[in-house]
Amino acid sequence: MDKQITLHGKTKTFKPESLMMSYGYHPEWSEGAVKCPIFQTSTFVFATAEDGKEFFEIAYGKKEPGIHGAGLIYSRINNPDLEILEDRLTLWDEAESCAVFESGMAAICTTLFEFLQPGDVILCTEPVYGGTDHLLSSILPKYGITTLDFDCSFSKEQIIKLVEKANASNRVKLIFIETPANPTNSLFDLEMLVDVANHFSSDTHRVITVVDNTFLGPLFQHPLKFGVDLVIYSATKYIGGHSDVVAGACVGPKHLISRIKSLRSMFGNMAGPWTGWLLLRSLETLKIRMERAATTAHCVAEWLAHHPKVEKVHYLGLLQPGTLQYEIYKKQCLGPGAMISFELHGTETTAFKFLNALKLFKLAVSLGGTESLAEHPATMTHSAVKQHKQRAFGITENLIRLSIGMEDPDDLIWDIGQALASI
Ligand SMILES: *Cc1c(COP(=O)(O)O)cnc(C)c1O
Repeated sequence: MDKQITLHGKTKTFKPESLMMSYGYHPEWSEGAVKCPIFQTSTFVFATAEDGKEFFEIAYGKKEPGIHGAGLIYSRINNPDLEILEDRLTLWDEAESCAVFESGMAAICTTLFEFLQPGDVILCTEPVYGGTDHLLSSILPKYGITTLDFDCSFSKEQIIKLVEKANASNRVKLIFIETPANPTNSLFDLEMLVDVANHFSSDTHRVITVVDNTFLGPLFQHPLKFGVDLVIYSATKYIGGHSDVVAGACVGPKHLISRIKSLRSMFGNMAGPWTGWLLLRSLETLKIRMERAATTAHCVAEWLAHHPKVEKVHYLGLLQPGTLQYEIYKKQCLGPGAMISFELHGTETTAFKFLNALKLFKLAVSLGGTESLAEHPATMTHSAVKQHKQRAFGITENLIRLSIGMEDPDDLIWDIGQALASI
């Protein structure tokens, strides 16, 4: 199935959700099977030695692929389940190309290692996912790559000043942006950060912008439209959506994704065919899952905001008009998503009491699955973040993070209500 068909001289373009069952797969490849099978194979037979030679030339960039694309060689380099998944994932962000990985962290690591060298500096928004924080603060410094971070209160001028003060103007090579930020839902202005990247770019080097779009994408935010270079997903979350697979993806222009794919084939951290197949299955219901979770999250957030034991709710659907955060939301988000965090009146003990009392919500990290989850960022997902950083970026001891799933909204509210009553 193609993205577009022309009928009676008119071109019809299908929406991504209409293409998730068919795009990139032809039933005649597999005995007419309506679903793409799992190509559980490590290697592929070449019809002729000449084909083998040509496929390798294409894989190593010595030759451009023909109309049939790159030929199949070996499952560390390419596999039909991954290629079809990659084709389908490009549709939501209207990206040229995609690379899928065995985890979101694999997507992040491979992208950063491809574009950075010793001596380079990363500009990074704060807070970020705990694993990303650990990578930037503890792993990359071993390779001479350091990070300057800033929170959502920084203007373009303040970020530029931060870099100048650190004497790093010529060394900034990449801006890593997580918006909305995990776990506080803080928003960062993508156009402003692309401006910052342009400011530090020169004729000889272009500062690359990378957005972790796990919280709102691929439905409610499309960073490429704001001039960002690359978009990363933990596909473990909404894209997978059933808490039964760990995977990641990076989408963007072909010339950047092909570099990432080359390094991926060296690290060998591509997703396997079974992971690819599970994600193909998940993508068919992505839109209805994300929409339903968002509708329910709105009910839950509104209810929480009026509860006397709740100090503050961090949810994009409750941002106040007139604030900078609201302006950014209106400009670059298409919906508030289904992640809520909130502060209870109290301490870590109060937060733990609440979490232990939940009946329907599961006490677990991760997010974006069909079941609703609750967790304590300060001691769980973000426990590796140093305490002064936690406090500076709003990861307080009384903060709870909720991921809203597919359950009935009244049942979820009942559960939160009875848990709040117990504290
Ligand atoms: C979960 C998550 C990651 C890491 O993804 P994995 O699939 O667990 O490796 C990265 N960024 C964000 C925002 C996440 O929530």
